[in-house]
Amino acid sequence: QSQELSQARIDYHVALQTLQEHGTNMVCTGKMHTDRICRFDYLCYCSEADEFIFFHSNSSVMLPNLGSRRFQPALLDLSSVEDHNTQYFNFLELPAAALKFMPKPVFVPDVTLIPNRFNPDNLMHVFHDDLLPIFYTMKQYSDLDDEARLVFMEGWGEGPHFDLYKLLSSKQPLLKEQLRNFGKLMCFTKSYIGLSKMTTWYQYGFVQPQGPKANILVSGNEIQQFARVLMEKMNITRAEEAEKDGGSVEREKEKEKYDDYAVVFSRSTTRLILNEAELILALAQELQMRVVTVSLEEQSFPSIVQVISGASMLVSMHGAQLITSLFLPRGATVLELFPFAVNPEQYTPYKTLTSLPGMDLHYISWRNTKEENTVTHPDRPWEQGGIVHLEKAEQDRIIASKEVPRHLCCRNPEWLFRIYQDTLVDIPSLLDVLKEGRNSKTNFRKSKPASTVHPGRVREPHCQTSVQTRNEAKLTVSWQIPWNLKYLKVREVKYEVWIQEQGENTYMPYILPQQNYTFSENIKPFTTYLVWVRCIFNKNLLGPFADVLMCKT
Ligand code: UDP
Repeated sequence: QSQELSQARIDYHVALQTLQEHGTNMVCTGKMHTDRICRFDYLCYCSEADEFIFFHSNSSVMLPNLGSRRFQPALLDLSSVEDHNTQYFNFLELPAAALKFMPKPVFVPDVTLIPNRFNPDNLMHVFHDDLLPIFYTMKQYSDLDDEARLVFMEGWGEGPHFDLYKLLSSKQPLLKEQLRNFGKLMCFTKSYIGLSKMTTWYQYGFVQPQGPKANILVSGNEIQQFARVLMEKMNITRAEEAEKDGGSVEREKEKEKYDDYAVVFSRSTTRLILNEAELILALAQELQMRVVTVSLEEQSFPSIVQVISGASMLVSMHGAQLITSLFLPRGATVLELFPFAVNPEQYTPYKTLTSLPGMDLHYISWRNTKEENTVTHPDRPWEQGGIVHLEKAEQDRIIASKEVPRHLCCRNPEWLFRIYQDTLVDIPSLLDVLKEGRNSKTNFRKSKPASTVHPGRVREPHCQTSVQTRNEAKLTVSWQIPWNLKYLKVREVKYEVWIQEQGENTYMPYILPQQNYTFSENIKPFTTYLVWVRCIFNKNLLGPFADVLMCKT
């Protein structure tokens, strides 16, 4: 492998000379360490020192040039988890002249993306923190293509889901522990360090209790595009899409009716459903469809995705396996089960995912409210929820508590104790939430994905005024349709007009179907009004306001 790296596509002497003469270059995006990604030429890594090295020459560029602020607290986050102090990146500096006294560098010819994986043992973290951010960071920089090399610097082994990371590029990803095999000094001819956080939707509770991120920047569309590409790479075609290839519309409809099925994603070591067989029978009866089970312990990941990608419903205990919801077809339902004393409203990574605009998934949660149906494990090690290491009074308090109070990540013993309970699912109460959920849901299974095209500004807005009497006046506002409307089929086009009397801090909003209107109520003579107009498609797709009109009566 070392040969493949150093000799194949690079002239060693040219590379060495370039490094010696020009040193390292760095240009970054982002104002803060939390939103920064840096691109380097000839960044080196010294395995002996476990440090990245920036070689200064007369022609080196380092932008941003932060001086010692580079250490306050770091140049950038290596993982997609925001501002986590175990995930900071920085480099050491040396003059290029020092190369003379150092081991001969080995050059990496590939364009390389160098991030940290956050928790490669956990499937939710694999997708949310690593795969999606890596996928979209690679989309952001066109030279990070299918030939790019990934180097994971968190220092962990491959982990159980390494095959998934391998789907992101045609080259074998490298782990930190492997870098030393290539030599003492490795230099990346072109590399990117850091990850886009644009696709993450959840914060794990390091500084405030866990919950959806404050400013979510991803929609269902990007998640689904990612899912589609990953499925292609796993050689999976959705059951749905395969059907379209053959058969009449009628046959397709028939098939769909009989092929509807629900999936129970089961866990076989912790957080068990103790009456899984009974649950499956009840679901089949209630939903009038087949119910199949999958588990990470028994199946390959691609075969699980194959099953889920055609399912109408996914049922599972709260847990990382529910990240596979992102492979569900539009219109499907996720039913997430929570153990006793765990409030579903406070643990919403999967609810947030399924509710992203454009995911078109339904979400229902059920919680065990019957203490007699829970099985606790006080004797287990603390990380699996054991509490016997705690003082007796604290153990008693936890056992008596009916709901885990809000808490920070990650070692709250009461939280771990409750989340690792096994549950005997009370079937009648589960069927109740299922029926409730179905009554409130509109079926968008068959409908096309909703349009997301926003209106442009309304054009040529005008106002005309006239004074009627000493205390009556009229204000006529008119405008042209937005430029993009003539190319679109839009179900409903409406206009919103805001009228504000100059100097007042409130305004009157109006929704109108036509392109002009004469206002006479609340319009006073010899007054200046500020008027804003915008277009709205299908009730909720808002366009921008046109430039404000100044209308004097
Ligand atoms: N896991 C599993 N079966 C089990 C328990 C866990 O497949 O019985 C998987 C789980 O999906 C996750 C990893 O093991 O990918 C770690 O599970 P843990 O309970 O620590 O995390 P959680 O599911 O609560 O996120």
